[in-house]
Amino acid sequence: MNFPLLNFDNSFIRDLPGDPDHGQGARQVVGALYSRIDPSPVSAPRVVAWSLEMAQELGLAEADIASPYFAQVFAGNGVLEGMQPWASNYGGHQFGVWAGQLGDGRAISLGELVTAQGKRWELQLKGAGATPYSRGADGRAVLRSSIREFLCSEAMHHLGVPTTRALSLVVTGDLVERDMFYDGHPQDEPGAIVCRVAPSFIRFGHFELPASRGEIELLQQLVDFTIRRDFPHLRGHGATLYADWFGEVCARTASMIAHWMRVGFVHGVMNTDNMSILGLTIDYGPYGWVDDFDPDWTPNTTDAMRRRYRFGQQPNVAWWNLSRLAAAIAPLVGDVAPLQAGLDRYVTEYSLQARRDVAAKLGLAQCRDEDVARMETLQQLMQQAEVDMTLFFRALSRVDPHAPQLEPLRHAFYDEAKYAAAQADFLRWLDDYAARVREDARTLEQRLQGMNAANPCYVLRNYLAQEAIDRATQGDYAGIQTLLDVLRHPYEEQPGREHFMQKRPEWAKHRAGCSMLSCSS
Ligand code: AMP
Ligand code: MG
Repeated sequence: MNFPLLNFDNSFIRDLPGDPDHGQGARQVVGALYSRIDPSPVSAPRVVAWSLEMAQELGLAEADIASPYFAQVFAGNGVLEGMQPWASNYGGHQFGVWAGQLGDGRAISLGELVTAQGKRWELQLKGAGATPYSRGADGRAVLRSSIREFLCSEAMHHLGVPTTRALSLVVTGDLVERDMFYDGHPQDEPGAIVCRVAPSFIRFGHFELPASRGEIELLQQLVDFTIRRDFPHLRGHGATLYADWFGEVCARTASMIAHWMRVGFVHGVMNTDNMSILGLTIDYGPYGWVDDFDPDWTPNTTDAMRRRYRFGQQPNVAWWNLSRLAAAIAPLVGDVAPLQAGLDRYVTEYSLQARRDVAAKLGLAQCRDEDVARMETLQQLMQQAEVDMTLFFRALSRVDPHAPQLEPLRHAFYDEAKYAAAQADFLRWLDDYAARVREDARTLEQRLQGMNAANPCYVLRNYLAQEAIDRATQGDYAGIQTLLDVLRHPYEEQPGREHFMQKRPEWAKHRAGCSMLSCSS
């Protein structure tokens, strides 16, 4: 059969120590960073969605995706020449508590593809069967969560948010049993597999695990490997190099979080095993998008009581997670001062980018301290009055600074009574804002361009994903590709696609999958 010969260079398993034991059996894996494991076959794989941009990047043509080979390989029924599947070993702090060894319980990496342009992309199947890290679970994934991961990975990429990517979504033809709300009502659901793609899937937890076991040599091997492969621009050696590297991880994480806050993304499970060393958004589970602006909102029902990972808390949580990474690599750096400097860099970098975003979202050439306060006042008003974050900021550019009115923003309000009550406050805010805009040096055209590049009109609202999921569950997968198509140009208004840039409808407010999600996936 014809399938292009792809170039694999599996450095992770070539350069790092692996588990001498084989097989799927659950076990503690010490002194090793991965276990070789093959995906478990599925009955009837079928590709139901794929990403054109990702395929092109990897050197795959449409005909390759259509080939029966593709469905087989990307469902785990066989491997291509050069692939050497493995599951990696990591630990993590979950909800603030050290959880010990976790590892890729349902992710299996197929290989590291090196493109003709020399770029390295690790291909990883999620839901391809049990591994030594599955801890008694099945290693599978259901269709609903796979659709959510597939769509959001690509949507985030097109929004300009650092993220792992997705190549394909395959339904397996097998059923997977899940108890969605952990309330004793398990159901059979269709199984699916996403092939996700990233230059590296190394997480903070990869460093925490050997550190927790006192495996300092192994820890150092992993740090050296990560710097060599994924941070090749860093020079120097020893403790200084490690500190520089940590500083860069802090800066990248800051940038990622600032992007999340700009677009209204809530990850939902910011455990340290879900933090990428490259500062990429990783592990799309019970994530969600803010509809009405609310810093206290979290989509994750598992976290509903404490709300540790709520929207407004994400910048603080990332700092705490970085402090866990700092503690893990401390034995290599020796001194806490450079690690503290890294954490400070997180704070500086985050505030720098957050200020840039305030200016961009409000359409100002520069952010002054008073603009930060202006944004905070606005956000308080939005929270009190229940205002849609995406619609409001997108429409703000339509407010005339010479005659500010609420009219262009009217459609972003969810509640009539709250709108009436907040009208005067909003008008006062708009008057002050309009005066500030009139002082600003930029032309109207520049202002519009800047605002439209920072304030998307299309985001993957929770209910939009759910609509695609509902259709797919009935066997109609077209909604996934349509949604992906819209989300490929999130900053451009697309005539005929108004359905995708509307407020969350009333029916979605309390529906499972739309406003609340569990970790069950
Ligand atoms: P998550 O909450 O998805 O980040 O997963 C936390 C840990 O549980 C990771 O080690 C996962 O690999 C593992 N895990 C989650 N779901 C499954 C599953 N269905 N089968 C095996 N391992 C799983
Ligand atoms: Mg995870």
